[in-house]
Amino acid sequence: MKEYSLGLVPGPVSVPRKIREAWLTDFGSSDLESDFFELYGKNQALVQKLLETKESVVITSGEAMSILWGGLKSALKPGDRLLAVAGGLFGEGFADMAKAIGIEAEIVASEYDSLPDPRKVREAVSRFRPQMITAVHCETPSGTLTPLKELGEIARQADALFLVDFVSSGGGVAVGVDENHIDIGLLGSQKVLSLPPSLSISTVSGRAWDAIKKANYSGYDAYLPWRSVPEVPFLPYTHDWQSMYALHLSLSSIMEEGMENAFARHSRAAALCRKLGREMGIRLFPVNEDICSPTVSAFYMPEGWTWAEFDAALRLRGLVVGGNYGRLAERVFRVGHMGSQADEALVARGMEIVKNVLEEKRTR
Ligand SMILES: *Cc1c(COP(=O)(O)O)cnc(C)c1O
Repeated sequence: MKEYSLGLVPGPVSVPRKIREAWLTDFGSSDLESDFFELYGKNQALVQKLLETKESVVITSGEAMSILWGGLKSALKPGDRLLAVAGGLFGEGFADMAKAIGIEAEIVASEYDSLPDPRKVREAVSRFRPQMITAVHCETPSGTLTPLKELGEIARQADALFLVDFVSSGGGVAVGVDENHIDIGLLGSQKVLSLPPSLSISTVSGRAWDAIKKANYSGYDAYLPWRSVPEVPFLPYTHDWQSMYALHLSLSSIMEEGMENAFARHSRAAALCRKLGREMGIRLFPVNEDICSPTVSAFYMPEGWTWAEFDAALRLRGLVVGGNYGRLAERVFRVGHMGSQADEALVARGMEIVKNVLEEKRTR
Protein backbone atom coordinates (compact mmCIF):
# COMPACT_ATOMS: atom_id res chain seq x y z
CA MET A 1 0.00 0.00 0.00
CA LYS A 2 1.66 3.19 -1.16
CA GLU A 3 -0.45 5.66 0.78
CA TYR A 4 -2.26 4.71 3.99
CA SER A 5 -5.81 5.96 4.25
CA LEU A 6 -5.42 5.89 8.02
CA GLY A 7 -1.88 5.48 9.30
CA LEU A 8 -1.19 5.01 13.00
CA VAL A 9 2.25 3.47 12.64
CA PRO A 10 4.71 4.59 15.37
CA GLY A 11 7.07 6.06 12.80
CA PRO A 12 7.49 6.89 10.08
CA VAL A 13 4.38 8.99 10.63
CA SER A 14 2.22 10.66 8.03
CA VAL A 15 3.89 13.76 6.55
CA PRO A 16 1.46 16.73 6.53
CA ARG A 17 0.72 18.25 3.14
CA LYS A 18 2.20 21.65 4.02
CA ILE A 19 5.51 19.99 4.94
CA ARG A 20 5.56 17.98 1.70
CA GLU A 21 5.70 21.26 -0.20
CA ALA A 22 9.36 21.56 0.81
CA TRP A 23 10.14 19.03 -1.93
CA LEU A 24 8.63 21.23 -4.65
CA THR A 25 11.46 23.74 -4.40
CA ASP A 26 14.53 23.24 -6.53
CA PHE A 27 17.02 24.48 -3.94
CA GLY A 28 20.57 25.23 -5.01
CA SER A 29 23.72 23.71 -3.57
CA SER A 30 23.84 23.51 0.22
CA ASP A 31 27.61 23.73 -0.04
CA LEU A 32 27.63 27.06 -1.82
CA GLU A 33 24.75 29.15 -0.58
CA SER A 34 24.80 31.26 2.57
CA ASP A 35 20.99 30.88 2.69
CA PHE A 36 21.46 27.23 3.57
CA PHE A 37 23.73 28.00 6.51
CA GLU A 38 21.30 30.63 7.71
CA LEU A 39 18.50 28.05 7.62
CA TYR A 40 20.71 25.56 9.46
CA GLY A 41 21.34 28.13 12.20
CA LYS A 42 17.65 28.93 12.53
CA ASN A 43 16.83 25.24 12.89
CA GLN A 44 19.55 24.83 15.52
CA ALA A 45 17.97 27.60 17.59
CA LEU A 46 14.49 26.11 17.28
CA VAL A 47 15.77 22.66 18.27
CA GLN A 48 17.52 24.17 21.29
CA LYS A 49 14.23 25.66 22.37
CA LEU A 50 12.26 22.47 21.74
CA LEU A 51 14.69 20.22 23.59
CA GLU A 52 15.49 22.79 26.30
CA THR A 53 19.21 23.09 25.84
CA LYS A 54 21.86 25.76 25.52
CA GLU A 55 24.33 23.17 24.26
CA SER A 56 25.12 22.73 20.59
CA VAL A 57 22.89 21.07 18.04
CA VAL A 58 24.07 19.07 15.04
CA ILE A 59 21.71 18.33 12.16
CA THR A 60 22.89 15.63 9.77
CA SER A 61 21.32 13.83 6.85
CA GLY A 62 20.44 10.17 7.21
CA GLU A 63 17.87 8.33 9.27
CA ALA A 64 18.15 8.18 13.08
CA MET A 65 20.19 4.95 13.10
CA SER A 66 23.02 7.01 11.58
CA ILE A 67 23.33 9.05 14.78
CA LEU A 68 22.86 6.07 17.08
CA TRP A 69 26.01 4.73 15.42
CA GLY A 70 27.61 8.14 14.97
CA GLY A 71 27.11 9.14 18.59
CA LEU A 72 28.79 5.99 19.89
CA LYS A 73 31.62 6.00 17.38
CA SER A 74 32.33 9.69 17.80
CA ALA A 75 32.49 9.84 21.58
CA LEU A 76 34.06 6.50 22.50
CA LYS A 77 37.39 4.85 21.81
CA PRO A 78 37.93 1.10 21.40
CA GLY A 79 38.41 -0.40 24.86
CA ASP A 80 36.06 2.11 26.54
CA ARG A 81 33.15 0.79 28.60
CA LEU A 82 29.47 1.46 27.94
CA LEU A 83 26.58 0.73 30.29
CA ALA A 84 23.28 0.33 28.46
CA VAL A 85 20.23 1.02 30.59
CA ALA A 86 17.55 -1.00 28.88
CA GLY A 87 13.87 -1.61 29.28
CA GLY A 88 13.46 -2.70 25.70
CA LEU A 89 14.88 -3.49 22.31
CA PHE A 90 16.50 -0.16 21.52
CA GLY A 91 18.10 0.03 24.96
CA GLU A 92 19.65 -3.40 24.55
CA GLY A 93 20.66 -2.53 21.01
CA PHE A 94 23.16 0.03 22.27
CA ALA A 95 25.16 -2.75 23.95
CA ASP A 96 25.22 -4.80 20.75
CA MET A 97 26.29 -1.81 18.67
CA ALA A 98 29.01 -0.90 21.16
CA LYS A 99 30.43 -4.42 21.12
CA ALA A 100 30.48 -4.35 17.33
CA ILE A 101 32.85 -1.37 17.43
CA GLY A 102 35.20 -2.70 20.08
CA ILE A 103 33.57 -1.16 23.15
CA GLU A 104 33.08 -3.25 26.27
CA ALA A 105 29.40 -3.22 27.12
CA GLU A 106 27.07 -4.28 29.92
CA ILE A 107 23.31 -4.03 30.17
CA VAL A 108 21.18 -3.11 33.16
CA ALA A 109 18.02 -4.79 32.00
CA SER A 110 14.43 -4.50 33.12
CA GLU A 111 11.40 -6.31 31.81
CA TYR A 112 10.09 -4.75 28.62
CA ASP A 113 6.80 -3.83 30.30
CA SER A 114 8.55 -1.95 33.15
CA LEU A 115 11.07 0.83 33.71
CA PRO A 116 14.79 0.44 34.44
CA ASP A 117 15.67 0.55 38.15
CA PRO A 118 18.08 3.43 38.96
CA ARG A 119 19.40 1.55 42.01
CA LYS A 120 20.64 -1.25 39.77
CA VAL A 121 22.19 1.35 37.48
CA ARG A 122 24.03 2.95 40.41
CA GLU A 123 25.35 -0.44 41.49
CA ALA A 124 26.52 -1.33 37.97
CA VAL A 125 28.15 2.07 37.49
CA SER A 126 30.28 1.81 40.62
CA ARG A 127 31.42 -1.70 39.68
CA PHE A 128 31.82 -1.33 35.88
CA ARG A 129 32.96 2.34 35.75
CA PRO A 130 31.68 3.12 32.24
CA GLN A 131 32.79 6.08 30.14
CA MET A 132 29.25 6.27 28.77
CA ILE A 133 25.76 5.43 30.02
CA THR A 134 23.05 5.06 27.40
CA ALA A 135 19.29 5.21 27.88
CA VAL A 136 16.21 5.32 25.71
CA HIS A 137 13.55 7.87 26.62
CA CYS A 138 10.65 6.30 24.74
CA GLU A 139 11.14 2.57 24.10
CA THR A 140 8.96 2.61 21.01
CA PRO A 141 8.46 -1.20 20.81
CA SER A 142 7.32 -1.33 24.48
CA GLY A 143 5.45 1.97 24.60
CA THR A 144 7.17 3.07 27.83
CA LEU A 145 8.76 6.39 28.83
CA THR A 146 11.82 6.25 31.09
CA PRO A 147 12.39 9.17 33.51
CA LEU A 148 15.84 10.61 32.79
CA LYS A 149 16.70 12.88 35.72
CA GLU A 150 18.13 10.32 38.11
CA LEU A 151 20.00 8.47 35.37
CA GLY A 152 21.52 11.76 34.26
CA GLU A 153 22.63 12.53 37.81
CA ILE A 154 24.19 9.10 38.16
CA ALA A 155 26.14 9.64 34.93
CA ARG A 156 27.29 13.09 35.99
CA GLN A 157 28.45 11.84 39.41
CA ALA A 158 30.38 9.01 37.76
CA ASP A 159 31.87 11.42 35.19
CA ALA A 160 30.37 9.28 32.41
CA LEU A 161 28.76 10.72 29.30
CA PHE A 162 24.98 10.35 29.24
CA LEU A 163 23.68 9.45 25.78
CA VAL A 164 19.91 9.39 25.37
CA ASP A 165 17.87 8.16 22.44
CA PHE A 166 14.77 10.35 22.43
CA VAL A 167 14.12 9.60 18.77
CA SER A 168 10.43 8.85 19.30
CA SER A 169 9.63 11.23 22.17
CA GLY A 170 11.44 14.50 21.47
CA GLY A 171 8.91 17.15 20.48
CA GLY A 172 5.94 15.21 21.88
CA VAL A 173 6.92 15.42 25.53
CA ALA A 174 9.45 17.53 27.43
CA VAL A 175 12.94 16.11 27.09
CA GLY A 176 14.85 18.65 29.22
CA VAL A 177 18.31 18.02 27.77
CA ASP A 178 20.20 20.35 30.13
CA GLU A 179 18.11 19.65 33.22
CA ASN A 180 18.58 15.91 32.75
CA HIS A 181 22.34 16.21 32.10
CA ILE A 182 22.09 14.70 28.63
CA ASP A 183 25.46 14.93 26.90
CA ILE A 184 24.40 13.43 23.60
CA GLY A 185 20.70 13.50 22.75
CA LEU A 186 19.36 11.82 19.62
CA LEU A 187 16.25 12.75 17.66
CA GLY A 188 14.94 11.44 14.32
CA SER A 189 12.89 13.26 11.72
CA GLN A 190 10.26 10.61 11.00
CA LYS A 191 8.63 10.48 14.43
CA VAL A 192 7.18 13.53 16.22
CA LEU A 193 8.62 15.96 13.67
CA SER A 194 6.56 14.26 10.95
CA LEU A 195 9.16 14.41 8.18
CA PRO A 196 10.37 11.53 6.03
CA PRO A 197 13.25 9.49 7.55
CA SER A 198 15.85 11.85 6.11
CA LEU A 199 17.42 13.91 8.90
CA SER A 200 18.89 13.28 12.32
CA ILE A 201 19.36 15.75 15.14
CA SER A 202 21.90 15.47 17.94
CA THR A 203 22.42 17.67 20.97
CA VAL A 204 26.05 17.69 22.04
CA SER A 205 27.29 19.04 25.37
CA GLY A 206 30.67 20.63 25.99
CA ARG A 207 31.76 17.50 27.86
CA ALA A 208 30.73 15.41 24.88
CA TRP A 209 32.71 17.63 22.49
CA ASP A 210 35.80 17.13 24.67
CA ALA A 211 35.41 13.35 24.38
CA ILE A 212 34.70 13.63 20.65
CA LYS A 213 37.87 15.65 20.07
CA LYS A 214 39.84 13.09 22.03
CA ALA A 215 38.36 10.09 20.18
CA ASN A 216 38.97 11.89 16.86
CA TYR A 217 36.81 9.43 14.92
CA SER A 218 36.46 10.05 11.21
CA GLY A 219 33.79 8.51 9.01
CA TYR A 220 30.59 9.46 7.25
CA ASP A 221 28.72 9.49 10.58
CA ALA A 222 31.40 11.40 12.52
CA TYR A 223 30.27 14.34 14.65
CA LEU A 224 33.57 16.21 14.66
CA PRO A 225 33.24 17.92 11.24
CA TRP A 226 29.98 19.51 12.46
CA ARG A 227 31.60 21.20 15.45
CA SER A 228 31.57 24.71 13.97
CA VAL A 229 28.73 24.54 11.44
CA PRO A 230 27.23 26.99 10.49
CA GLU A 231 29.69 29.64 11.80
CA VAL A 232 32.26 27.94 9.62
CA PRO A 233 30.25 27.30 6.44
CA PHE A 234 31.83 24.01 5.47
CA LEU A 235 29.96 20.68 5.34
CA PRO A 236 31.49 17.19 5.27
CA TYR A 237 28.98 16.26 2.54
CA THR A 238 26.21 17.88 0.52
CA HIS A 239 23.28 18.40 2.84
CA ASP A 240 19.61 17.68 2.19
CA TRP A 241 18.23 21.20 1.74
CA GLN A 242 14.66 20.09 1.09
CA SER A 243 14.60 18.17 4.36
CA MET A 244 16.27 21.05 6.19
CA TYR A 245 13.53 23.37 4.94
CA ALA A 246 10.85 20.82 5.86
CA LEU A 247 12.38 20.65 9.34
CA HIS A 248 12.03 24.41 9.58
CA LEU A 249 8.35 24.17 8.67
CA SER A 250 7.82 21.43 11.25
CA LEU A 251 9.64 23.19 14.10
CA SER A 252 7.94 26.49 13.30
CA SER A 253 4.57 24.82 13.38
CA ILE A 254 5.28 23.36 16.85
CA MET A 255 6.38 26.81 18.06
CA GLU A 256 3.28 28.41 16.58
CA GLU A 257 1.10 25.89 18.35
CA GLY A 258 3.15 26.33 21.53
CA MET A 259 5.35 23.56 22.90
CA GLU A 260 3.13 23.02 25.94
CA ASN A 261 0.09 22.78 23.70
CA ALA A 262 1.84 20.27 21.46
CA PHE A 263 2.82 18.16 24.48
CA ALA A 264 -0.75 18.35 25.82
CA ARG A 265 -2.10 17.27 22.41
CA HIS A 266 0.11 14.17 22.59
CA SER A 267 -1.07 13.38 26.13
CA ARG A 268 -4.72 13.72 25.13
CA ALA A 269 -4.33 11.49 22.07
CA ALA A 270 -2.50 8.90 24.20
CA ALA A 271 -5.11 8.97 26.97
CA LEU A 272 -7.91 8.58 24.46
CA CYS A 273 -6.17 5.69 22.70
CA ARG A 274 -5.73 3.80 25.97
CA LYS A 275 -9.25 4.53 27.17
CA LEU A 276 -10.71 3.21 23.92
CA GLY A 277 -8.45 0.16 24.11
CA ARG A 278 -9.60 -0.54 27.65
CA GLU A 279 -13.24 -0.16 26.64
CA MET A 280 -12.93 -2.73 23.87
CA GLY A 281 -11.10 -5.14 26.18
CA ILE A 282 -7.55 -5.03 24.81
CA ARG A 283 -4.88 -4.97 27.46
CA LEU A 284 -2.15 -2.37 27.73
CA PHE A 285 1.33 -3.93 27.51
CA PRO A 286 3.20 -1.73 30.07
CA VAL A 287 2.46 -2.70 33.69
CA ASN A 288 0.54 0.51 34.22
CA GLU A 289 -0.55 3.60 32.40
CA ASP A 290 1.77 5.91 34.40
CA ILE A 291 4.85 4.59 32.61
CA CYS A 292 3.39 4.83 29.10
CA SER A 293 4.79 7.23 26.54
CA PRO A 294 2.46 9.96 25.21
CA THR A 295 3.72 9.17 21.70
CA VAL A 296 2.88 5.47 21.31
CA SER A 297 0.58 2.89 22.91
CA ALA A 298 1.54 -0.78 23.07
CA PHE A 299 -1.22 -3.33 23.57
CA TYR A 300 -1.20 -7.11 23.89
CA MET A 301 -2.50 -8.73 20.75
CA PRO A 302 -6.19 -9.51 21.16
CA GLU A 303 -6.79 -13.15 22.00
CA GLY A 304 -7.31 -15.54 19.12
CA TRP A 305 -5.51 -13.40 16.53
CA THR A 306 -2.17 -13.78 14.83
CA TRP A 307 -0.44 -10.53 13.87
CA ALA A 308 -0.72 -11.39 10.16
CA GLU A 309 -4.46 -11.92 10.44
CA PHE A 310 -5.01 -8.82 12.58
CA ASP A 311 -2.88 -6.61 10.35
CA ALA A 312 -4.68 -7.86 7.23
CA ALA A 313 -8.13 -7.26 8.78
CA LEU A 314 -7.21 -3.69 9.78
CA ARG A 315 -5.67 -2.95 6.38
CA LEU A 316 -8.86 -4.11 4.67
CA ARG A 317 -10.54 -1.18 6.41
CA GLY A 318 -7.72 1.22 5.64
CA LEU A 319 -5.97 1.23 9.02
CA VAL A 320 -2.28 0.46 9.45
CA VAL A 321 -0.76 0.11 12.95
CA GLY A 322 2.62 -1.18 14.09
CA GLY A 323 3.52 -4.78 14.80
CA ASN A 324 6.55 -5.65 16.87
CA TYR A 325 10.02 -7.18 16.93
CA GLY A 326 12.13 -9.65 18.86
CA ARG A 327 10.39 -11.23 21.80
CA LEU A 328 7.44 -8.85 21.42
CA ALA A 329 6.73 -10.01 17.86
CA GLU A 330 3.24 -11.56 17.59
CA ARG A 331 2.51 -10.65 21.24
CA VAL A 332 2.28 -6.87 21.17
CA PHE A 333 1.00 -4.35 18.62
CA ARG A 334 1.36 -0.58 18.69
CA VAL A 335 -0.60 2.50 17.85
CA GLY A 336 1.55 5.52 17.01
CA HIS A 337 0.06 8.85 18.06
CA MET A 338 3.03 11.11 17.59
CA GLY A 339 3.46 14.28 15.54
CA SER A 340 0.82 14.57 12.84
CA GLN A 341 -0.89 11.49 14.31
CA ALA A 342 -1.28 12.99 17.81
CA ASP A 343 -4.83 13.85 16.92
CA GLU A 344 -7.78 12.70 18.99
CA ALA A 345 -10.16 12.50 16.03
CA LEU A 346 -7.69 10.38 14.05
CA VAL A 347 -7.04 8.09 17.02
CA ALA A 348 -10.78 7.72 17.61
CA ARG A 349 -11.32 6.74 13.96
CA GLY A 350 -8.48 4.24 14.10
CA MET A 351 -9.59 2.65 17.34
CA GLU A 352 -13.16 2.41 16.03
CA ILE A 353 -11.80 0.26 13.20
CA VAL A 354 -9.93 -1.93 15.69
CA LYS A 355 -13.14 -2.33 17.67
CA ASN A 356 -15.19 -3.23 14.61
CA VAL A 357 -12.65 -5.78 13.45
CA LEU A 358 -12.63 -7.46 16.89
CA GLU A 359 -16.42 -7.48 17.13
CA GLU A 360 -16.82 -8.90 13.65
CA LYS A 361 -14.71 -11.92 14.56
CA ARG A 362 -16.50 -12.43 17.90
CA THR A 363 -19.87 -12.58 16.16
CA ARG A 364 -18.66 -14.82 13.37
C1 LIG B 1 12.48 4.89 15.35
C2 LIG B 1 13.50 4.78 16.38
C3 LIG B 1 14.86 4.74 16.04
C4 LIG B 1 15.32 4.69 14.62
O1 LIG B 1 15.03 3.39 14.20
P1 LIG B 1 14.40 2.96 12.81
O2 LIG B 1 13.87 1.60 13.10
O3 LIG B 1 15.49 2.94 11.84
O4 LIG B 1 13.32 3.94 12.46
C5 LIG B 1 15.78 4.69 17.08
N1 LIG B 1 15.38 4.67 18.37
C6 LIG B 1 14.08 4.70 18.73
C7 LIG B 1 13.70 4.67 20.17
C8 LIG B 1 13.10 4.75 17.74
O5 LIG B 1 11.80 4.77 18.07
